[in-house]
Amino acid sequence: MSYGYTGNILHIDLSSKKHWIEHPSETFYRTYWGGRALALYYMLKEMKPHTDPLSPDNLLIFAPSVITGTPAPAMPRYAVCAKSPLTGAEGEAEAGGWWGPELKKAGFDAIIIKGASSDPVYLYIKDGKIEIKDATFLWGKETAIAQQLIREELKDNRIRVAQIGPAGENLVRFANIVNELKHFNGRNGLGAVMGSKKLKAIAVRGTKSINLYNKEKVKEITKQITSRVMDNPLSRGLRELGTVAGIASIYKTGWLPTNNWSTNDFKKGENLTAETYNKTILKRSEGCYACPIRCKRVVEVDEPSIKVDPIYGGPEYETVVAFGSLCGIDDLKYVAKANELCNKYTMDTISTGMVIAFAMQCYQEGILIKEDTAGMKLNFGNKKAMLKMVEMIAHRKGLGNLLAEGSYRAAQKIGKGSKQLIHQVKKQEIPMHDPRLKTGVGLQYALSDYGADHMKAAHDPSFQDVDSWGTKTMQDLGISEPVSPTDIGPKKVKLFKILDIYWSLLDTLGVCDFGYVPRSVGTLDELLEIIQSVTSWDVTWFELMRLGERSINMARFFNYREGFSSKDDTLPEVFFHNFKGGPLDAQGAINKEDFQKALRLRYEMMGWDVNTGIPTEAKLIELGLDWLVSEVK
Ligand code: SF4
Repeated sequence: MSYGYTGNILHIDLSSKKHWIEHPSETFYRTYWGGRALALYYMLKEMKPHTDPLSPDNLLIFAPSVITGTPAPAMPRYAVCAKSPLTGAEGEAEAGGWWGPELKKAGFDAIIIKGASSDPVYLYIKDGKIEIKDATFLWGKETAIAQQLIREELKDNRIRVAQIGPAGENLVRFANIVNELKHFNGRNGLGAVMGSKKLKAIAVRGTKSINLYNKEKVKEITKQITSRVMDNPLSRGLRELGTVAGIASIYKTGWLPTNNWSTNDFKKGENLTAETYNKTILKRSEGCYACPIRCKRVVEVDEPSIKVDPIYGGPEYETVVAFGSLCGIDDLKYVAKANELCNKYTMDTISTGMVIAFAMQCYQEGILIKEDTAGMKLNFGNKKAMLKMVEMIAHRKGLGNLLAEGSYRAAQKIGKGSKQLIHQVKKQEIPMHDPRLKTGVGLQYALSDYGADHMKAAHDPSFQDVDSWGTKTMQDLGISEPVSPTDIGPKKVKLFKILDIYWSLLDTLGVCDFGYVPRSVGTLDELLEIIQSVTSWDVTWFELMRLGERSINMARFFNYREGFSSKDDTLPEVFFHNFKGGPLDAQGAINKEDFQKALRLRYEMMGWDVNTGIPTEAKLIELGLDWLVSEVK
């Protein structure tokens, strides 16, 4: 008997409109579990190297895990994976919400989609039944309208819809996928892959329950964690202030990314803080499936000059900074509007804010002129121009068409030195965290297989003192001493090796990192007990960490086949220079040689070739990935 998983993996070929169901063995599930590991298994086995990401040959994979949908805190997540049209590398993004648990209840552990339809379609999956339905009437529609029309057509208001909006249809290279209008598979342009397949949506409905080995134990631990949510300052902070909680201290310390990373002196930071957010735009907080933390924000603005619809949720930290200080804007209402537009068109808010800030700096420096911007004054701080640019990118109009290619490709076309103004890793725009004060995050930006990402490991401050929550709670995984956030020596490399593997595990299992240590209230023991109680497997942390490491090596190997190597593990030049302006002026630069040394040490610790950064044959065999060895040869 299987516990946690359904034993069914759905394969869809959109070209032939055929589907079939695979029933993998228990060994398969215990080796790959779900999420990125399961997806990479199929991407490595079934996709040829150098596949065009927007061609029918790209695979688009939706993968919850063996434990997704468990009624324990913070386990709603699923991964969407494909070759990324933005980076050309392994593409992946995890989302919370309700869609992942619903897919499991509808009878499937994952969906593997290949081919492309000639006309728009959507998938309807209900309790094991599959239909490929015409979506011509949905094409071009914004997400709230499309979701409503699908629910009306299927006569069921409880259907969960994962979908793309116009930006995905228009193949914007950083288009994303949304479920329930506010939970995103945000980065890497996976919405464009869905658009290239003419797949508008996947509507799922499941009435079966997920089979748990020890339901009572799962209930008991859930109760235990829930009872501590309001006592723990981290989970209480997430609930009361959301992810924007840190903005006040960030801008006072002087590292709020400002004006496309050209300065750190944002004088009006007070207007973007969590306190201002709660006072001016917050309507309520919300959560994901079975999660007591409820860290998600819902905002509303109802003024004659600007309206923001609460149906699309509210901006997180990254979005507030990307459309705020990064564009020189201090008006949360306009930030909330930009977030709403991105959500109805399905665009990643980090990349969208970054390409607009890049265009603003080009305009300020005379690289772009009014003829390029359809007469718009695209200077920093112009909040109306910022909103206009969001619209133009989603619909690929004028300059928006160029920016929809991402900042790397746009700078190549614009020329005139604009390449100096982009900040990316593997062609993906960097998030809003500054590695000069968090060197471990910098290592993760550089090493991330899917381009710069802030959700690749915990952040350095969680381990800065003996009393820090991370240092206190993660000793079982080998983290026993504090390391300064700005240290870039061997201790930092070792710490982030462990954190990278642990985070990769959380992503593989679909566990939200805001639910467990070092970022929140659930302990390592509780997480392990939940996994054992769901599956009946007597897993240990050794086995789980091997799983996290297996996922990393599969992603690394996928990228190696695509031509990536150590030359792509870089950090934007700006971080090797001192802060400009504000309290940290003229200090903080990361030493380039030290950073390179740290990367090489990390390769060695991971068992990768020290020069190329590619997994060695021995490492692949150790992780049970023998089937990849012949490809190394
Ligand atoms: S902690 Fe927040 S994001 Fe994570 S599952 Fe809970 S509500 Fe969702």
